[in-house]
Amino acid sequence: MGVGLEPILKTENLWKIYRSGKVDLAALRGVSIEVLPGEFVCIMGPSGCGKSTLLHVIGGLAQATTGRVLLDGNDLTQMRDADRTLLRRLKVGFVFQRFNLLPTLDAYHNIALAQHIHGNGFDPHRFETVVRLLGLKDRLHHKPSELSGGEQQRVAIARAIISEPKIVLADEPTGNLDTKSSEAVLGLLRQLNEDLGQTIVMITHNPEAATYGHRCLHMRDGMVVNGNQTN
Ligand code: ADP
Repeated sequence: MGVGLEPILKTENLWKIYRSGKVDLAALRGVSIEVLPGEFVCIMGPSGCGKSTLLHVIGGLAQATTGRVLLDGNDLTQMRDADRTLLRRLKVGFVFQRFNLLPTLDAYHNIALAQHIHGNGFDPHRFETVVRLLGLKDRLHHKPSELSGGEQQRVAIARAIISEPKIVLADEPTGNLDTKSSEAVLGLLRQLNEDLGQTIVMITHNPEAATYGHRCLHMRDGMVVNGNQTN
């Protein structure tokens, strides 16, 4: 993690307003943050403060209302939907609370399909490295329903990182796990960060989980309220 590096992710005065009927709800109210390559950043804050909205906007899953999102130098807010989708596939790995694995595919194919979608073709060396790091060698031919929650999340993490994304965005990755599995998953995320230099942004409710990151952004009412704002 280097001082003087260009941020891999930068947001400038990001606003997201949800309109339903006549009511406007500002879920993000001027968020400006920076994440450097190799950082592991946590986002904390009470339910409804805008954490998921921020993660979706920085990952290109949702459009900001105003402001800018620069991901690896590309301005997501200036892109057409199709281009944003393409950029997301190339640069972002998502990990969700509910794993979101394809139920009919075994672990092997859940991971390999992600590599295929990415468009780089199957890379056996990368596949082996990721499977070894995540301890999944003996689980590859099991479907999600035949795996524990912790194992499913490890498959989901493997899927997220298989194509060497610039950034992994994790939304409460331990929210559905018991304490022991949570610690294992968090330990693996930290190991991926340390061993592969994987940049990670992780939402969590859990102060214990937040200690796995290098620093924590605290959100309230659609704003980042601690000292990591860039303006
Ligand atoms: P958090 O992840 O911190 O719990 P969210 O980003 O999910 O917060 O939500 C922030 C606010 O935006 C909440 O008030 C929520 O009800 C509202 N919100 C989130 N998604 C939508 C949506 N698709 N339409 C309307 N309001 C939404």
